[in-house]
Amino acid sequence: MLTWQQARENVIEVVRARMSRRGRGHVRLDRALGRVPAQPVTADRDQPAFPRSIRDGYAVRAADTAMLPAEFEIVAEIKAGSAFHGVISSGQAARIMTGAPVPAGADAVVMVEYTHPLSETRVAVERSVTPGQHIVDRGTEARAGQTLLDPGRRIGFGELALLAEVGCAQVRVFRQQRVAVLSTGDEIIPVDREPGPYQIRDTNSLSLSAQVSLAGARPVLIRRAQDESAELSERIREGLAADVLVLSGGVSKGKYDLVEAVLSDLGAEFYFDAVAIRPGRPAVFGWCAGKPVFGLPGNPVSTMVTFELLVTPALDLLSGAEPRPLPLASAKLSVPLDEKEGLTHFLPAHIDWKESGAEARPVRWRGSGDLAGMAQANGFLVVPADRPRWQQGEQIQVLLRRDLL
Ligand code: AMP
Ligand code: MG
Repeated sequence: MLTWQQARENVIEVVRARMSRRGRGHVRLDRALGRVPAQPVTADRDQPAFPRSIRDGYAVRAADTAMLPAEFEIVAEIKAGSAFHGVISSGQAARIMTGAPVPAGADAVVMVEYTHPLSETRVAVERSVTPGQHIVDRGTEARAGQTLLDPGRRIGFGELALLAEVGCAQVRVFRQQRVAVLSTGDEIIPVDREPGPYQIRDTNSLSLSAQVSLAGARPVLIRRAQDESAELSERIREGLAADVLVLSGGVSKGKYDLVEAVLSDLGAEFYFDAVAIRPGRPAVFGWCAGKPVFGLPGNPVSTMVTFELLVTPALDLLSGAEPRPLPLASAKLSVPLDEKEGLTHFLPAHIDWKESGAEARPVRWRGSGDLAGMAQANGFLVVPADRPRWQQGEQIQVLLRRDLL
């Protein structure tokens, strides 16, 4: 049985090798969060386009501040958005605001805090400045034509601002991946229906859709399939119209766990059908009709964990980006642990971010169906298969919940 790291690597390898050419198109910049540029983004002009003052104060010749206090004649006032076209000569200063262009002749800005006015037209400077101080020279952030963002780098809030800076009102991006989400099971009913005594509401459609959206892809909900081959086959074919199919439930060894058999009948090839983890062991990954297919176990927490470990890197690759690393961190364990050997355990945990470092404790939960327990957790303790026993106070790896970061 593969370890979760091997299974994740396997997904990455297979998707890289088998994925087809991705479509491209344009999106408006204000809709581009989370999308992946399909071509390099370049600077349309030098950045900054002029020597920019980064303080409110006086633009002077630095050499004039060698002897203190120094007095200057104020010859201009420069607001952001305007300019002074004269030249500052020795003994002269221009009152200047943050974001305004530093005039010719001046080579430094004295902060207003280190000056005091003598009259309307004269100012005294109390501190020396060095050449270049409080000025960002033209083109020092970027040169016109320079590549600022390579294709494949996902657009976050910082990148949105950068794209705005270079005037990219429309961005050429890779097409957003559509991910079919298909719940299976006779007992599963939609959330807006009243459950019979032995029925349960479909929670995986919701959590999986959210995980798909967080990964930057678009969920496509397929009506839940009963544990019956013909219906399941029909729904799977419906799901295969999307770019990726994610099923939940029906992948264990029970008599009515039909997902693998039905996928097989539809010509699927499988790469693995078990991973050495708990929760989430019976996770399936295969390829069917040219699309990657994930059969995730139905227990809600298993579904969540296996999606994070195995599906997210596939969605990154398919959307044109490199797989994002898992949000793993290290935390001090506040209780001892004694788990079963042989499987890596992902125990829902609460991680406290203290000044002294992160501390983690498992939350009370009753196994992979326990959503009430799960809701107390902001991550998981990762208890490795070969190291089941841990003492209080040891540093242990934690997997953070991406949605709460
Ligand atoms: P399965 O993987 O089909 O054996 O299901 C394992 C457990 O997860 C069973 O208790 C199911 O009732 C439950 N389960 C399966 N699918 C869902 C779903 N979509 N929403 C909530 N619970 C589910
Ligand atoms: Mg089932």
